[in-house]
Amino acid sequence: MKKIAVLGSTGSIGTQTLEIVRERAGEFQVTALAAGSNLSLLEQQTAEFRPKLVSLTKESDAKELRERLRLRNIYSTEVVYGMDGLTACACEEDADMTVNAVVGMVGILPTVAAVKAGKEIALANKETLVTAGHIIMPLVKKYKGKLLPVDSEHSAVFQCLQGAGEQSVEKLFLTASGGPFFGKTREELRSITVEQALQHPNWAMGKKITVDSSTLVNKGLEVMEAGWLFSLTPEQIEVVVQPKSIIHSMVQFDDGAVLAQLGVPDMKLPIQYALTYPNRLRLAGERLNFFDLQKIEFYRPDTETFRALALAYDAFREGGSLPAVYNAANEMAVALFLEHKIGYLEITEILERAMDAHTKINNPTLEEVLSTEAETYSYIREHSR
Ligand code: NDP
Ligand code: MG
Repeated sequence: MKKIAVLGSTGSIGTQTLEIVRERAGEFQVTALAAGSNLSLLEQQTAEFRPKLVSLTKESDAKELRERLRLRNIYSTEVVYGMDGLTACACEEDADMTVNAVVGMVGILPTVAAVKAGKEIALANKETLVTAGHIIMPLVKKYKGKLLPVDSEHSAVFQCLQGAGEQSVEKLFLTASGGPFFGKTREELRSITVEQALQHPNWAMGKKITVDSSTLVNKGLEVMEAGWLFSLTPEQIEVVVQPKSIIHSMVQFDDGAVLAQLGVPDMKLPIQYALTYPNRLRLAGERLNFFDLQKIEFYRPDTETFRALALAYDAFREGGSLPAVYNAANEMAVALFLEHKIGYLEITEILERAMDAHTKINNPTLEEVLSTEAETYSYIREHSR
């Protein structure tokens, strides 16, 4: 039985992870669950999976959960809170694997702690590698750890690499749906509303990543994530728009062969593959029908309209603390957009201004990555209307 800790258990990836655990009863045991503020769902999850440790962001929520668990006669679960609580869940002593599915840079420290504690990591939280890949990857190597990608594109690449020799990759084709606004002009984008940005054509995901998919920031973050995971340069990673999200990504090898992973868009496949790697287990669900599909179309991304993708390549090439600025500026800009405080195009404009204003730190320490996040936030606070 594999024992797992799930960080971000109340989110889109977290709940799908727990669905897999539920469907594969007897194969997994949940030893820790961490959420942000969704107290009621964490209460239900605790009652169902009986983890040893659970965590919420706020102390008052933790207190309330303790009360509610007592009323349900659940005394075997310890309730903790805050960054310490999240990190404790990441390192829960019985866990073999930590699934990191929190959103944002809050995922960095728990990942570091889990690697040091010898846990296998199933990583959905892309912000961790984007901003601190230069720290995480050497750490994984040092601790002889295992870092399994959950992001569908990276899982696709990882699947294509099974059985390939080392240093045989020429380049990756990272596929992108293009998001809901593929084909639109800048002028048309100006009036996009929050509701429109939250409609993704193929994937049902958390709010932040759904907006990121529409601006192509998500693809930009994924380019950097792939660079760290597979030790590749920006020039070796090409984004290809493939609107139906049937091809989840492709690897071109040194001999010219291209391997692709295809399937119906369903995050459960990459999540389950990370949980059960190197085994491939049955997963119920729709299958591809090539005769209905008939054709798969490819387009070059429009990086003039969707500038955020070009900016991601700039941040990746420059390296140092710049990817942290890219990520933090976007996190804050998306939050402001979701609160209806800025317009859609301003997300990318803020991102670009924050990058321009930043003085790069080469090879930043963990503390410097986190202070870059804080400085980027205060820069945006000071400079937004
Ligand atoms: P959601 O917004 O649906 O869920 C985020 C989770 O993180 C929630 O459980 C939330 O808790 C928790 N959380 C947020 N802030 C904190 C905090 N400060 N401390 C502890 N927990 C916190 O996001 P997704 O599931 O969509 O995405 C998670 C990660 O996976 C992101 O990095 C995303 O880029 C990546 N990803 C997601 C995909 C998807 O299909 N959804 C696909 C590929 C990658 P609560 O709700 O209780 O506040
Ligand atoms: Mg993805």
